[in-house]
Amino acid sequence: MTDLHVYDTTLRDGAQQEGLNLSVADKLDIARHLDELGVGFIEGGWPGANPKDTEFFALAQRELSLRNATLAAFGSTRRAGTVAADDPMVRALLDSGAPVVTLVAKSHVRHVETALRTTLAENLAMVRDTVAFLHGEGRRVFLDAEHFFDGYLADRDYALEVLRTAAEAGAEVVALCDTNGGMLPPQVGDVVAEALAGTQARLGIHCHNDTGCAVANSLAAVAAGATHVQGTINGYGERTGNADLLTVVSNLQLKLGQPIVPEQRLREATRIAHAISEVTNVPPYSRQPYVGASAFAHKAGLHASAIRIDADLYQHTDPMAVGNDMRMLVSDMAGRASIELKGRELGYDLSGETELLSRVVEKVKDLELRGYTFDAADASFELLLRAEVEGERLSYFDVESWRVITDSRDAGEAVSEATVKLVAGGARVVATGEGNGPVNALDHALRQALSGAYPELDKLELIDFRVRILDAAHGTDAVTRVLIETSDGSTSWETVGVAPNIVEASWIALVDGVTYGLLRQGIPVR
Ligand SMILES: [Zn+2]
Repeated sequence: MTDLHVYDTTLRDGAQQEGLNLSVADKLDIARHLDELGVGFIEGGWPGANPKDTEFFALAQRELSLRNATLAAFGSTRRAGTVAADDPMVRALLDSGAPVVTLVAKSHVRHVETALRTTLAENLAMVRDTVAFLHGEGRRVFLDAEHFFDGYLADRDYALEVLRTAAEAGAEVVALCDTNGGMLPPQVGDVVAEALAGTQARLGIHCHNDTGCAVANSLAAVAAGATHVQGTINGYGERTGNADLLTVVSNLQLKLGQPIVPEQRLREATRIAHAISEVTNVPPYSRQPYVGASAFAHKAGLHASAIRIDADLYQHTDPMAVGNDMRMLVSDMAGRASIELKGRELGYDLSGETELLSRVVEKVKDLELRGYTFDAADASFELLLRAEVEGERLSYFDVESWRVITDSRDAGEAVSEATVKLVAGGARVVATGEGNGPVNALDHALRQALSGAYPELDKLELIDFRVRILDAAHGTDAVTRVLIETSDGSTSWETVGVAPNIVEASWIALVDGVTYGLLRQGIPVR
């Protein structure tokens, strides 16, 4: 592997995207995915400035055991006219416990004078003082030079002085930020080469996509000598987004021959990109390079015969390298191979089970056409796979009927009440449950109905619920997809339901969630 830093800022800069809101649990979830992918650094947020981010770092210390990545806390240099050691915001960075602190600093003279309203000399002192203090406290310090490219064009000597000051004070990396995203690749390449000659510091690159060149600009910077690349998964970010880290990494690794992450990790890229988009609830962009659903899709019939002879004739790289599929061949080797791999991950040895694998591939294809997704809903997929292996669907109870009513009472908010009728443990049960919404009420009623036969369900808790309305496609009406996350206190799993009706879709996902919870604990059918 090369020592190029892959620095992810999905949780900080990516979360600036319009309409994207991450809870602390979401952030922890995404961090685990990023670690699995093999990024070197995960920027978790701005502790001290944002209470949610402070909580993220506190929880991360206890709950997040990263195998590959190092956590970074983001923050600004000390305020003008103060001392870094006494600045509560700088203290919060230390208190975050993150081994890396990434400081943002002004490097554009006009920004120093008009936005920061201080002198050019004091801005340099702020950089020097804050970097030296955090470095002295044993942290690795990176510096984000904000508006660097515009600043370099406005006053090149001062912009370079900021980099030199940071490096001399102990910053390990100085990242050049195209904060306004207005640069083009040749400019970026020139400025990075000149900055490298003028400072000798380890340089990083942080690009925004306002000219549609965030990825190209990042590659130009690496070609010119930058050895630290910042970006976000799926290119999340404000305005037109940040550099899409998976595209950058795939290009560097597959096109430019720079080994950045182990091959087997890059093969998880598509799955992880989609799993993260389920957490952010931002629909995946089907035409996204490398990992998009359409990235290697060919219209049936068009190139079919040639592709059968040699698939490489119609694709720029092997889709399996990033865990994607040439879509037309999904029911062929690639599809079977990925199901076999997934089966192995879940504890089923399906090697040689060609017929069974084909059956599962067909089933998955059919369900995905109807709006299902199994990228995130591992538990539903395992139940499906298990049904094919065992020959019948695992059923802990037989549902007779369910019903939910929501009514608004005179002086309060709407309340939902659900009734579930089922047979479990040889007995017919009628149970009701209340909730602040129909799904909450159904969840309570279902658990109530099962509590006699399966007291083990007590521990289960519905911890997340996400809804997406899928556009009408393939001649069908619009459908609703619901993803539910259920926890037993130590781990959690996701299930999926699809139906024209949101409550029905939720019910399907709820039943899978409970069934999987019982299966996980090894509970026999009663
Ligand atoms: Zn940015």
